[in-house]
Amino acid sequence: MRFISTLCAAIALSGAAFAQSDETATAPQVADMVVWGGPIYTADDSQPTAEAVAIRDGHFIFVGARADAQLLVGPDTRVISLDGAALFPGFVDAHAHLAGIGERELTLNLEGTPSLAALKEAIQSWRMTNRPDVLVGRGWIETHWPEGRFPSRWDLDDVVPDIPVILVRADGHALVANSLALSKAGIDGTTTPPYGGDIIKNALGEATGMLIDAAQDLVSGLIPAATPESRAQELTTGAQVYARYGWTGTHNMSVPWTDVKILERLSDEGDVGIRVYNSIEPKDAEQLFTGGMSTSRNGHIVTRAIKLYMDGALGSRGAALLEPYSDADTSGLLLTTKENTMPILRRALANGIQINMHAIGDRGNRLLLDWFEEAFTSVPSIERAVAEPRWRDEHSQIVNRADIPRFARLGVIPSMQPSHAIGDFFFAPARLGEDRLNGAYAWASLIKAGSIIPGGSDAPVERGDPLIEFYAAVARKDLKGFQGPDWHPEEAVTRGQALKMFTLWPAIASFAEDRLGSITVGKEADLTAFNIDLMTADEAAIPKGHAVLTVVDGAVVFEEQ
Ligand SMILES: [Zn+2]
Repeated sequence: MRFISTLCAAIALSGAAFAQSDETATAPQVADMVVWGGPIYTADDSQPTAEAVAIRDGHFIFVGARADAQLLVGPDTRVISLDGAALFPGFVDAHAHLAGIGERELTLNLEGTPSLAALKEAIQSWRMTNRPDVLVGRGWIETHWPEGRFPSRWDLDDVVPDIPVILVRADGHALVANSLALSKAGIDGTTTPPYGGDIIKNALGEATGMLIDAAQDLVSGLIPAATPESRAQELTTGAQVYARYGWTGTHNMSVPWTDVKILERLSDEGDVGIRVYNSIEPKDAEQLFTGGMSTSRNGHIVTRAIKLYMDGALGSRGAALLEPYSDADTSGLLLTTKENTMPILRRALANGIQINMHAIGDRGNRLLLDWFEEAFTSVPSIERAVAEPRWRDEHSQIVNRADIPRFARLGVIPSMQPSHAIGDFFFAPARLGEDRLNGAYAWASLIKAGSIIPGGSDAPVERGDPLIEFYAAVARKDLKGFQGPDWHPEEAVTRGQALKMFTLWPAIASFAEDRLGSITVGKEADLTAFNIDLMTADEAAIPKGHAVLTVVDGAVVFEEQ
């Protein structure tokens, strides 16, 4: 993709000619930007494709034929030729953690590390070019490693023994620390793990360096504390990474109120270019209940949701199930109680605040629907700030088939992350058995039952690449093209549905469909172009593509050079 300045000048003449024509009573509009030269998909059912789009003052003023768009080109119009790249409405990641994405970038990024040997090499070479007091990395996952085991402190000591090393697993539920980090934190074979955590020990009773869930806090004191400046740097970096991936916005989950204020400032000052819809930590809920929805001056940062947790995750058997796990004597655990949750739900309804609640297991999802239903019944529409609360079930991973129609009936939105499925299906059959997989990652069934599904990545748990998410949604295969016998291919979605998962449906799930989510005249101009046509490309080619252009509110926030 490139900019055609010579062509731009030539076309400017035709625009000028049009402006002087007597045929129009009013002066025709001149566009700030025109994009054409490749397939354009709008996610607007009334006009699904177009040859050209024109933007003025941050809004779409024209969507249609190239010949008509040419009439809107003036001397100062920026004309962008797609050169065959495909254009879409701005892609939005409906579930991610922006500061964590920036943090992954600013520390040692271990995402995609193919083996334990490669992990050791990565920290050794990073250590040679960086001089940190503590080496912090994130993103490794051992599931596919040829070594077939967790890393240990001795592995890390082999390569970096002289400073504390702390490497967080991709899912954030475990870390491995080297011997120096353990001894500085006072951890040895006799240490009792805290409630909700575990210190893994070997046959000799020695701590191996692996700290699970709450036990990770034992070493967190070694990591330099975040400052407002370091936090701002993480958020800015996360937003840059996301613009480069082609995201024009993200729904930012579990956000402390301090981040909301930093993001609003960074956005108004132009340091964060993408849109962010914040879902805040429940400890800060009072800010929304008393202050109401918060918005940056430019309207790009919107905060009106609270993130709650129902249960744990499937990998660590924390997801709450109706029947015990197939491979362990447990049914998972709830992370909250109804007594604690119902008052928050009622206040949220009365104040027009959206609830985004994490639920993974079939019991977790059923309870979520039960509690939401009870709240809806107890607070009649007339006492609500908004009639349609659009509350969301974040993940909705394992759902009992009987509960699938309840989502649409109650207006509860399943917010799902396609890449979770293609990772989890390697262990989900063992955890759940064959029957329960009928309602696992049941995208097609939920859509058929009348639901919309805003699609997300949960980065930095996953990479956060829109093309991996789109591919996972339509192919339901891993990145090598593998699909196991229990993966339920019939739950994959169509390409048209996948497009809405990352454009129109996140807009609806954030109350923004009147101004975002599709390429429609009058809407704010958010665009993403990829170097491949997602609607026609070979399935296997999709995750190999990349973004070439990202436009937010009519301004280019990323372009491939
Ligand atoms: Zn998450």
